[in-house]
Amino acid sequence: MMRMTVLASGSKGNSTVISSSRTRVLVDAGLSCRELLKRMSIAGEDPSQLDAILVTHEHQDHIAGLSVLARRLNIPVFFTEPTHRAWVRMLTPRTTMTYAKWLDHVQREKEARAAAVATGASDNDLAVESETIDGIAAEAARLNRSDDANTTLELPIDPDEEDLCAPESPSAVAQKPDPTRLPAVEYFHSGTQFSIGDIDITPFTIPHDAADPCGFVFESEGIRMAVATDLGYMPPNVKAALRRIDVLLLESNHDLEMLRDGPYPWSVKQRVLSRVGHLSNNATAEFLQKDYDGGATWIVLGHLSESNNAPELVRLSAEQALGNHPTLLGNRILLAHQATPLDPITL
Ligand SMILES: [Zn+2]
Ligand SMILES: [Zn+2]
Repeated sequence: MMRMTVLASGSKGNSTVISSSRTRVLVDAGLSCRELLKRMSIAGEDPSQLDAILVTHEHQDHIAGLSVLARRLNIPVFFTEPTHRAWVRMLTPRTTMTYAKWLDHVQREKEARAAAVATGASDNDLAVESETIDGIAAEAARLNRSDDANTTLELPIDPDEEDLCAPESPSAVAQKPDPTRLPAVEYFHSGTQFSIGDIDITPFTIPHDAADPCGFVFESEGIRMAVATDLGYMPPNVKAALRRIDVLLLESNHDLEMLRDGPYPWSVKQRVLSRVGHLSNNATAEFLQKDYDGGATWIVLGHLSESNNAPELVRLSAEQALGNHPTLLGNRILLAHQATPLDPITL
């Protein structure tokens, strides 16, 4: 038996449970600890049964709840070494600044305050405005890997609520724990198979703007499941990794026209479209039509952009690609969501 439960998929958070009859791993923890536990309970997955967390890459939408969840469940986190290092760097605030930079920083703050007073903007006005551009700014910051994106990785936790995600002890409330502290860290290398319990895992390199991003193939009892999102294009090694897969979670990020006419700044559009960005519906359709072996029982399309895609376009594009290929009619397509977990897929 193998089971895939997509808890969340999209640029605001990604997380998927992969289980065999006796092992359970979480791929990415891109929502707050609390939200991940909530979604696991909705989907019928028991968090206390998780054996490990695997990280595809260090972008915010894949690691937002990582350290809190790993500490609460007291389970190891599997990274590649470059991804682990990049993650630690992201969570470690820069504490030094040259004197010249500091003067510049102070001057800018002064100017911003003066400008706010001159326009008569109240704090509330500023708050509302920053909230509306938050989503775009977060995506832009993430894609540009700006330092600003790295400062608020742990989502706020309500200290009054007694649950798995609540602070460890009263002293921990006063003194924030080191966000890079994990119960255990294990390293893997893309291209080298390893095992957790009775699941064999083969990580494969993907082209994406992170330190050492990867996808995974999971195999147990002859059933194979794969997770392949966050890739700028389909290189030969990914096409090879995605053969003989029974359940495939594959990216279908954006509609090209919607992205071009969409709200993102030009530099972000360029990044998404680049060979280290995300797969468009067209690119995914091209893979399904030309390179995919047609063996999967389920294809789950995920990491859909909320601003630059529409579920109907994703489905149409994939169904057309599979429909053009007479041997592939047995495939069933599902769309993974950002806001709600998918029903578990069991084979
Ligand atoms: Zn992502
Ligand atoms: Zn990413």
